Amino acid sequence: MIDFTFPPEVDDVRLRVRRFMDEEVRPAHDAVPHGDRRALVAEIVRLRGRARDHWNLWLPHMPAEWGGMGLGPTAMAAVSAEAGKVPIGPYVLNAQAPDEGNQHTLLHWGTEEQKERYLRPSCEGRVRSCFAMTEPEVAGSDPTLIRTRAERDGDEWVVNGHKWFISGARGASFALLVARTEDDPDVPQAANSCFIVDLPSDGWEVVRDIETMSGSHNHCEIRITDLRVPAANMLGGRGQGHLLGQYRLGPARLAHCMRWIGQAESALDMMVARSLERYSHGSVLAEKQGIQWLIADSAVELYQCKLMVLHAAYRIEHGLDFVAEVSMAKHFVANSLWRIVDRAIQVHGALGYSTDTPLASMLRQARWSRFADGADEIHQMRIAQRTIAAFRDHGTTRTATGSLPL
Ligand SMILES: Cc1cc2nc3c(=O)[nH]c(=O)nc-3n(C[C@H](O)[C@H](O)[C@H](O)COP(=O)(O)OP(=O)(O)OC[C@H]3O[C@@H](n4cnc5c(N)ncnc54)[C@H](O)[C@@H]3O)c2cc1C
Repeated sequence: MIDFTFPPEVDDVRLRVRRFMDEEVRPAHDAVPHGDRRALVAEIVRLRGRARDHWNLWLPHMPAEWGGMGLGPTAMAAVSAEAGKVPIGPYVLNAQAPDEGNQHTLLHWGTEEQKERYLRPSCEGRVRSCFAMTEPEVAGSDPTLIRTRAERDGDEWVVNGHKWFISGARGASFALLVARTEDDPDVPQAANSCFIVDLPSDGWEVVRDIETMSGSHNHCEIRITDLRVPAANMLGGRGQGHLLGQYRLGPARLAHCMRWIGQAESALDMMVARSLERYSHGSVLAEKQGIQWLIADSAVELYQCKLMVLHAAYRIEHGLDFVAEVSMAKHFVANSLWRIVDRAIQVHGALGYSTDTPLASMLRQARWSRFADGADEIHQMRIAQRTIAAFRDHGTTRTATGSLPL
């Protein structure tokens, strides 16, 4: 039997997150004057205390021995969709990118010493971290092209290179840095290794916080010059940087999808609310067929998003191969988010284009979802390759459409 309900304890957490967001986090976020970063950070710090001590909502994705709530991917889908409705929601729960992905990575790949030194303070919310892979000079879509190099020198590695769009780099206490260590790997994917870099460090220069189409959000350009990293700070083995990146990115991509579902749901709620109050040509917008199509298309897409994310999460949770399902979900949810927010703006007219509602900011943010963590075309390429291979192997594409019993 297929059961689409959550166990009562997961439902309890989900509803607690919703109440916390509605009663405390959203009002506090909305009360901060636009652009006042210092005030926003102060509010996040205060709300983190509330999340932990009052609401018992802290580090939902990590096991109890690390101070977390031990939720699996399907329960996390519910939690993240609720938290994702407020921009600072995931931060308040200490479940934000890139820390969430870094925590999973350290938990899986770190030695005991590395975990105590880096994972512990991250879980306790005492430090933040970043993940440094993408480079301006080569296509981020193909990590085998990475040029940042690490050379072994005694008990240390010496790293030189250039990174950009490193989220959260300013203020981070450590970075997971991917660099080329192997000259002649068996396969191109085995050229890179991953290092834990203490920050700040000599040789790690934050050149700038890159100004994007939605402002500056601590996505930084980093120049790396003769940076010395102790050999003990390699995470995973030599040549495992690509593997580790893939391990990190699978669930991390899905975690993004979960937060995007929260955003898409907020946009649809706003679309319907506006359509019920705006009056034109003898009736409210909700009664116009043209507007109903926008609402219907959005509802259908959001339903698809939820099913895809829940199914991919289910596969991760049950130890099944999840790469294809996460890829399809990431591609579909990213594009649905864009379309649903765009339709909500359409229904709001000039108000939607203004910054009086969060929709304009949501649309600008939504734009990066279609190429970060795997561009649309890369996911489409992989999905097509798997579909063609399934047909070649089995004479049918059935196994490439979500591995469902249909
Ligand atoms: C807001 C934001 C936050 C980010 N945070 C981080 C971070 O914390 N750490 C980090 O390391 N990186 C981060 N990134 C970088 C992100 O991971 C890269 O943007 C992504 O991997 C794509 O790489 P690229 O930008 O170099 O695009 P490219 O690889 O140059 O691709 C550009 C476009 O070319 C097309 N394309 C590329 N390859 C193919 C192909 N094989 N077939 C067909 N079309 C193709 C696609 O349309 C793609 O969008 C972030 C980016 C953004 C926007």
